[in-house]
Amino acid sequence: MKQKTLAQSIDITGVGLHTGVNVSMKLRPAPENTGYIFVRTDLDNFEIPASVEYLSHCSYATTLMRRGVVLSTCEHLLSALRGVGVDNCFIDLDNIEIPIMDGSSEDFIDLISAAGIQIQEAPQHVLRILKLVEYEQGDRMMSIEPSESYEIDCVIDFPHPMIARQALNFVFENGSFGKEIASARTFGFTHEIEMLRKANLALGGSLDNAIVLTPEGMLNDVPLRFSDEFVRHKILDIIGDFALLGMPLLGKITAVKSGHSVHAALMSKLLRTDGAWEVQ
Ligand SMILES: [Zn+2]
Repeated sequence: MKQKTLAQSIDITGVGLHTGVNVSMKLRPAPENTGYIFVRTDLDNFEIPASVEYLSHCSYATTLMRRGVVLSTCEHLLSALRGVGVDNCFIDLDNIEIPIMDGSSEDFIDLISAAGIQIQEAPQHVLRILKLVEYEQGDRMMSIEPSESYEIDCVIDFPHPMIARQALNFVFENGSFGKEIASARTFGFTHEIEMLRKANLALGGSLDNAIVLTPEGMLNDVPLRFSDEFVRHKILDIIGDFALLGMPLLGKITAVKSGHSVHAALMSKLLRTDGAWEVQ
C-alpha cells in the first residue's frame, strides 16, 4: 500500500458547532510523510499538526493546542480523511473551529470523492498493535489489542428510549467507512444544551447539524439515517480521534461508553506502554 493525498484542493465553508463562528477551510494536497497539518491562515499560517502531542481538553469535542493556538472540533474531518484513506493533507482554515457541516462526515467524504485521491510513491506506514492495552474510568472502558485488520467494537448505553444500549462491530474494508459510518450525525440532549450554552458551547448547534434529543424523542423532523445512528457516530468519533496517532492502525479497539477524554487517555497509555506497538 502506498500513501495517498488529494488529487486537488477543496474549498469548504461552514459554521463551528461550539463557537458559532463562520469558517472558510481549504483541504490541500500534501507531500509524502506530512500527515495532517492544520494551518491557521488568520494567524500567519501557524501550523498545528494533527498529533496526540497537541491534544488539549476534549470534553465535548477534540481540541488541539500548540503554543497557545487552538484548533477545535477536528474529529469529524479527521475521521473522513482516515476513513477514505487519505494519509497526507494540509487543512487551511481562517478561524478556530472546523465547520460542523451536517454533524457527520458525509459532506467531507463527498467533497473528497469529487476531488479525487492521488496515490503517492512512499509506502504507507501502519501502527501495528502488539499487545493488549486497557484503560478504565468508572463504568467507561476502552482497550486495544492485536488484530490483522483495523476493527472497532463499540457499545454505548444512554437512558433514552431512542438509544438505550447499542452495539456495533465495524471493520475497515474498502468503502466500509463511507457506507456504514460517514453519515452518522452527532447528537445531544435538550437538558444539556442550556448548560452548554452557559459555558459558551454549542453556539452554532442547530437541527441542521445535530440530532437533538428530548426526554421522550427528538426535535428533528427528519428520520434517523440508521436505527443505530448513535453508536455509528461514536465509531466515527473514535476513528477521528485515533487518526491523531498519525497512521492507520492494525488492531482491534473495544469501547464501552467511551468519549473523547477516554480515547485520549487510551492513546496516551498505548504510546507509553513498552512493546505495545510498532510502526511498519
Ligand atoms: Zn462527533
